[in-house]
Amino acid sequence: MNEFRKNLVFTWRYSKKQKSRIIAFVFCSFLHIVISVIVPIISAKIIINFTSNQLNQVLWMGLVLFIIELFRNLINYLCNYFSQVIYRETFTDLQLNLGKEILSLTNSCLDHNSSGVFIQRLTNDTSKISDIFNLLSFNLIDVLTDIGIFGAIFIINRFLFFYVIVMVIIIGIIEKRRVSIRTEKDKEFRRENEKVSGFVGELVRGVRDIKMLSAEESFLRNLNERLLGLNAKRYEMSKVQRSYYFISGSLRDFFDFSMICILVYFISQQKFTIALALVIYNYMRGITYIVNSYSYLLEGIKDFNLSCNRIFEIIDGKDFPKEKFGKTHLDSVEGNFEFSRVSFGYSSDDLILKDLSFKIKANSTVAFVGKSGAGKSTIFNLLCKMYEVNSGNIFIDGENILSLDRESIRDNITIISQNPYIFNLSIRDNLRLVKEDVTDEEMIDACQVACLDEFINSLPEKYDTIVGEGGISLSGGQRQRLAIARALIQKTEIILFDEATSALDNETQTQIQKAIDNMKESYTILIIAHRLSTIINCDRILYLEDGKIVAEGTHKELLEKSLEYRKLYQAEIEK
Ligand code: ADP
Repeated sequence: MNEFRKNLVFTWRYSKKQKSRIIAFVFCSFLHIVISVIVPIISAKIIINFTSNQLNQVLWMGLVLFIIELFRNLINYLCNYFSQVIYRETFTDLQLNLGKEILSLTNSCLDHNSSGVFIQRLTNDTSKISDIFNLLSFNLIDVLTDIGIFGAIFIINRFLFFYVIVMVIIIGIIEKRRVSIRTEKDKEFRRENEKVSGFVGELVRGVRDIKMLSAEESFLRNLNERLLGLNAKRYEMSKVQRSYYFISGSLRDFFDFSMICILVYFISQQKFTIALALVIYNYMRGITYIVNSYSYLLEGIKDFNLSCNRIFEIIDGKDFPKEKFGKTHLDSVEGNFEFSRVSFGYSSDDLILKDLSFKIKANSTVAFVGKSGAGKSTIFNLLCKMYEVNSGNIFIDGENILSLDRESIRDNITIISQNPYIFNLSIRDNLRLVKEDVTDEEMIDACQVACLDEFINSLPEKYDTIVGEGGISLSGGQRQRLAIARALIQKTEIILFDEATSALDNETQTQIQKAIDNMKESYTILIIAHRLSTIINCDRILYLEDGKIVAEGTHKELLEKSLEYRKLYQAEIEK
């Protein structure tokens, strides 16, 4: 119960905006309970009057009952209305806040968790938490209102009342046990479900590659194995349910039969008329609903607690660490960088960058070259503070990156990756993402600098062309140039450009090169170069090997002093 109370307090954070509706809901629920307690008691009185032939009284009571029932319907309607609105608003608020928490997780944490972990918690768990008002409204009301039936049986016969109480306690204990075993199984099921939904997400995102690789069969086999695992968990859960339903069902049947025997005995002793015995028997069946409502309530509370705990895990940050930023704000960034004795590894026992030091001046264009896996992209990740260094320091305009706030870093640095993500929106809306009030002029200017304007104007819908999920209707080069235009509109001072490894056609390559040349001297541009021919004119080139800078200088200088660089360049021009 303590856990439930704590979780209700947590949910309250997201539903307190609905305070007046919640008060109205609780009030209506209270009225509902009162009415539902009164109704069976009045009915019992009517029955007793019936059996003693006081028909006038029966008519009056029947009329009162009718009016009360009408009122109950109205209250029921209001309860439904309030609980649905509260659900909707709480759900939205909770999802939005959880989304915010997920966006603030560290990249290492995101690397180590499947997307299913977040998708499931963001959709299913938030829904279960928000459903607590529905759960309380229907099952708690049912449990409490059925107290009226107990009252009615109590009025009619004390012995039967105690009999019913014993029955409810015994079945209640069994149901409690069932629910707690089921919750444990459900915990495992949800964990497995996260893995499967993460895999399904990957399958959907990678469907084109799967087809290209002709790997449908092995993917389906993999999916089948996971689904079998998931179904096994589901089966275990339903096995527990089945066994316990069998036991409690048989017990209910036993109590049912015993009740018939007791009623027959009372009739034979002329303590009950047959009519009264039938009504009592009917009540007895009503009691079964109490037990059902009680177990649904118990199950719902356990589900609610489980979902709250799963969401707490993300919010409290113990297993899901959050990004940390400093407080220093830079109003404008010039673009000077320094790496001072930086060591870093994605896992603590495998260093990717080793005691790395270099400085970059604002508005210069610097390229990083080296074999794949040398650590070039890792440098970019650290510059954007996607990860934190193990040791050493990174400075931006002389300020340690650890002391800078989020905006000073992220609003001033853009990474243009090899395959930038373009959203399934129009070109205009993709550009608007970084600046909502961007004017047509700014947009056209940026696209001209990015050498994309001509292409956009050749499209029938021009800037209103929808580009498909992930920008699927654009070529790799066009996606990169759209990302460049996005960075230009965002007016970030520092642009980190990860050149595409895939061989772009010469014209596309020339256009991207032209776009970068257009930006030179106004921006600090760092390029990860996969083709040396594209970086000949850079102010500086850093040659990286195994996380260390082994040579640096201009293209000309490196040709003279670095054997490795010379070999690399010659290999490229001989291709
Ligand atoms: P480059 O850009 O020079 O090709 P990277 O910086 O991408 O090299 O990668 C350097 C090393 O770090 C590689 O061995 C790569 O496998 C590893 N690596 C890159 N990203 C991650 C990550 N998110 N988690 C774990 N290891 C990573």
